[in-house]
Amino acid sequence: MGSESSSLHIFFFPFMAYGHMIPMVDMAKLFASRGLKSTIVTTPVNAILISKAIRKFQTHNNNIHVETIEFPCSKAGLPEGCENGDLIPSPDQVPVFFQATRLLQEPFEKLLLQEKPDCVVADIFFHWAADSASLLGIPTLAFHGTSIFATCALECVRLHEPQKNVSSDSEPFVIPDLPGEIKMVRTQFPPSSIKGKTNPIDRFFEEAMDSEKKKSYGSVVNSFYELESVYADFSRNELGRKAWHIGPLSLCNRDIEEKVQRGKDISIDENECLKWLDTKKPNSVVYICFGSIVNFEDSQLREIALGLEVSGQQFIWVVKRTKKDAEEWLPEGFEKRMEGNGLIIRGWAPQVLILEHQAIGAFVTHCGWNSALEGVAAGVPMVTWPTGAEQFYNEKLVTEILKIGVPVGAKKWVIMVGDSVKWEAVEKAVRKIMVGEEAEEMRKKAKVLSELAKSAVEKGGSSYCDLSALIEELGSRRH
Ligand code: UDP
Repeated sequence: MGSESSSLHIFFFPFMAYGHMIPMVDMAKLFASRGLKSTIVTTPVNAILISKAIRKFQTHNNNIHVETIEFPCSKAGLPEGCENGDLIPSPDQVPVFFQATRLLQEPFEKLLLQEKPDCVVADIFFHWAADSASLLGIPTLAFHGTSIFATCALECVRLHEPQKNVSSDSEPFVIPDLPGEIKMVRTQFPPSSIKGKTNPIDRFFEEAMDSEKKKSYGSVVNSFYELESVYADFSRNELGRKAWHIGPLSLCNRDIEEKVQRGKDISIDENECLKWLDTKKPNSVVYICFGSIVNFEDSQLREIALGLEVSGQQFIWVVKRTKKDAEEWLPEGFEKRMEGNGLIIRGWAPQVLILEHQAIGAFVTHCGWNSALEGVAAGVPMVTWPTGAEQFYNEKLVTEILKIGVPVGAKKWVIMVGDSVKWEAVEKAVRKIMVGEEAEEMRKKAKVLSELAKSAVEKGGSSYCDLSALIEELGSRRH
């Protein structure tokens, strides 16, 4: 890397939700570790969390900083301090929150003018940031935060709308143009994609999807070429997209403290968690976690508990409940019966640390892209349980293309709560991923992918080289 490139200054501007902030903070660390100056732009409440997440890294690298801009929540009709998707008080406030993020444009522009970075990496939900940057001649890289496969699938569906050409919810259809003959059913799509984009939030997403090609210099992707090469090529050659694949970003966290400090404060002492796992045989524990947004109803949690108990497998289960909540979501005496074999984490888990432990044999996941890719990086096969967003596409990638997963059978797109799944299906999928020849086969494939993931980010690997190419291009653009 030349000295010009090493003085490049990059702004990272994540959408305020954990699934967006976590990978963007990892990315800022990655750029800083390559000698660039990284500035993460966020609001005061999120700045506290992000500052914690980069504290350890800053002890050996001083190229990373947080800059805050005010988010006038109350002006938008949100409660004071409602600066993160996680803090939205009720579902009807979700569109208000999304719309309100437009109020960040003015303070963001002021900061741009003051700092004049060389490039902005902006969350796709802040597509207006590209307009702001272009006024100053600054290029913007979009960050979708999803798989290459899902980005391609979304684009093919947007262009062809195959879901509108079937006569029933259960009639399968192939996604046109997309390599791999991927079959879906209509219920796996958001209702708005069938009925039309009538509400503000649908229009917000539509605008975001539409903007990348028109406004951005290209995109940075949390994936690696070897994992999705067919789709990386398809995206470049057929969809005309310029992208740099620089992941898995989570692998930039090298020590325990960094792995623990991602997102929220964890709800279990990491040493206690590791000690528990250390007593278990390799590949003998199932890890169950549904990301930062999915919040199952009590009845669904009971089905999961039953399924786990009947499966006879050991587990770590992350549940969005606190000790203060009524324990009606647990079958009578469940925790006592499971003592020693099952650990429930109420709140936030150190996910990457857990996934990387050799005792973990499988991951039950909602297929949020960060989680799925963290599973790949750790070499863990998955039970896929998509609920909303683009998770049904990620399920296809994991189960049908990479062949390292078993679907639990969720078929309906329902934001935050998902389709209802019975305990029998949970039990069956968990057994299938943990025991037998097929399980062994998937585990072997997952381990190979994990090795490829690690090689991709090492010096000379595909993601390492893609980042070098990007840095060089940004450097040459400046002169
Ligand atoms: N995560 C975590 N602990 C938890 C839950 C989630 O560390 O208890 C992290 C997880 O490692 C991932 C992110 O939160 O990096 C969730 O992102 P994802 O894209 O998987 O799902 P989303 O939360 O956006 O639905």
